[in-house]
Amino acid sequence: MPFAVVTGAAGFLGSHLVDRLLRAGYRVLGVDNFVTGNPDNLSHLKHESQFDLLVQDVSEFLDIPGKVDQIFHLASPASPIDYLNLPIQTLKAGALGTYRALGLAKAKGAGFVLASTSEIYGDPLVHPQNEEYWGNVNPIGPRGVYDEAKRFAEALTMAYHRSHGVNTHIVRIFNTYGPRMRLQDGRVVPAFIGQALEGKPLTIFGDGSQTRSFCYCSDLIEGIFLLSQSGFDDPVNVGNPTELSILEFARLICRLADIPEQLEYKPLPVDDPKQRRPDITRAGNFLGWAPKVDLKTGLRETIEWFRAHRPEARKEEEAQRPT
Ligand code: NAD
Ligand code: UDP
Repeated sequence: MPFAVVTGAAGFLGSHLVDRLLRAGYRVLGVDNFVTGNPDNLSHLKHESQFDLLVQDVSEFLDIPGKVDQIFHLASPASPIDYLNLPIQTLKAGALGTYRALGLAKAKGAGFVLASTSEIYGDPLVHPQNEEYWGNVNPIGPRGVYDEAKRFAEALTMAYHRSHGVNTHIVRIFNTYGPRMRLQDGRVVPAFIGQALEGKPLTIFGDGSQTRSFCYCSDLIEGIFLLSQSGFDDPVNVGNPTELSILEFARLICRLADIPEQLEYKPLPVDDPKQRRPDITRAGNFLGWAPKVDLKTGLRETIEWFRAHRPEARKEEEAQRPT
């Protein structure tokens, strides 16, 4: 039975990846220190004999006995609020954490997948972004702690590939959403859905003309899984190219949540990218991958999940449970 290590397993994407790997017949060890993750994301695996969790900071030496076939390195704060609050931990997860995870891959002869990001393109001057573009990042701005950590992580990954022959893969993940995001993580999807469900105005940063392209989590996870099984070592964008402005996105959430449109304008964060859309030609050509879940379907699923999991819904459910 193949054995995979997933760092960041208690996070939004890590937990979905663990589920996908278990379905594919892997035994899985998750590694997480819960800095931005949530043990509840793994609670459905309490009785799963093929899954274990190691509670550890990935910046420390990873001592994992036996053979390992694949390492998926996802551990890193990922939402702008998280990495602005945790700047040094973010740099350490991207630099030291990637170094530890690559060291483990080298020692075990395992495949390695780095969860990189569209943020390595910064505020992009090329649109849509293809993998040939080198980006436009402010290294000393507040977002630099995340962007530069991921850029360093990509450089280190390629160095281990070229110098040590590690079978590496780099996935550049574009904005992804779905069940198990933290309601308070500050990213636009949980922020808008949380506000909509509470009947509060949706907070638009800037004038809302900045664009993003949102990918549903099951599509993203399939892209990562296919990449791990491929022989492809150059970076690959995985995301959904359906692009819309944040203002259009807010209006769409109001319609889908069936609430009147209430918007509140707030200042645009420093270095907030003005536009973002993945060119996914490479993922199509080399992995045969394309997203399947359209935005409305994915958002309906996500809104329903948040409806059922917001704190009030949990309290109601607990109150109704027989004692
Ligand atoms: P998340 O915050 O939900 O998950 C990250 C997980 O990593 C958390 O469980 C956290 O506790 C863990 N972690 C962080 N630092 C750690 C450390 N030092 N040691 C051990 N565990 C640590 O975020 P996510 O959205 O699931 O993102 C997962 C990965 O995907 C990240 O590397 C992120 O940069 C990348 N990514 C995500 C998106 C997206 O839209 N979701 C976009 C681009 C890239
Ligand atoms: N945003 C917003 N209101 C919010 C949260 C985010 O208008 O309450 C904007 C943010 O400024 C950015 C976009 O939504 O332009 C996406 O933000 P997110 O934090 O989800 O991810 P990013 O793509 O910036 O990493």
